[in-house]
Amino acid sequence: MAFLLEEHAGLDVRAEAARLEGASLEETLQWTWETFGKQAQIGTSYQGSGLVIIHHARKLGLDFPVFTLDTGLLFPETYALKARLEAFFGIGIQSLEPSQTVAEQAETYGGDLWASHPDTCCSLRKVLPLQQQLSRIDVWITGLRRTQGDSRAQTGILELYEFDKLRGRHILKLNPMANWSREAVWEYIKAEGIPYNPLHDRGYRSIGCWPCTKMASGESERAGRWEGFEKTECGIHTFLGSNI
Ligand code: SF4
Repeated sequence: MAFLLEEHAGLDVRAEAARLEGASLEETLQWTWETFGKQAQIGTSYQGSGLVIIHHARKLGLDFPVFTLDTGLLFPETYALKARLEAFFGIGIQSLEPSQTVAEQAETYGGDLWASHPDTCCSLRKVLPLQQQLSRIDVWITGLRRTQGDSRAQTGILELYEFDKLRGRHILKLNPMANWSREAVWEYIKAEGIPYNPLHDRGYRSIGCWPCTKMASGESERAGRWEGFEKTECGIHTFLGSNI
């Protein structure tokens, strides 16, 4: 990974990124809390690895705020899971919502935008609300893992991105689960009794909005998302472009 910007927020980013590659999840989260406090926030869609991060943070007493993108098109099981997780962890999870309801979006762009223009739909319902949140914080903590697919294979534990060129604003992206396997994630979740989406037990691998998530038999961990399209990412992990 190339760091053209050596220093950010008083940090030697290159050195910290190299050090964190060999650190445990606990050490990584502890350092992030001591350095950024609540300016570091966990973004989750309740897939396995995000749950492991929240569980570790709670165990360590690190009070990172947690947010989720509520597109208005999630499965009923996912909405129910949010409430179960809030009770289990004793936290509130902030829902980030698009500026338009699904009905308003249909009036503006036509119905079923996900079927005709999924990139536009994802931009409106996921990317824009996320960008607003990221403009207010310093570190975005994600559950990305390298084995989730080719587009994620180069994920670093700590990455620095240019967020707003005009204002010279940057954002750190912390992916503390990058080197975890799917098996290790699920072993941890089962061992700790963490609530998870029951759709996983019904054959869904990666769970997003109901119109764009199908049961899948493919090998890829993200098989079943946007079936019939080339699309493999909703855009929240690609809009930042190259890291610096
Ligand atoms: S995943 Fe599908 S329904 Fe959800 S925001 Fe993207 S295109 Fe729209």
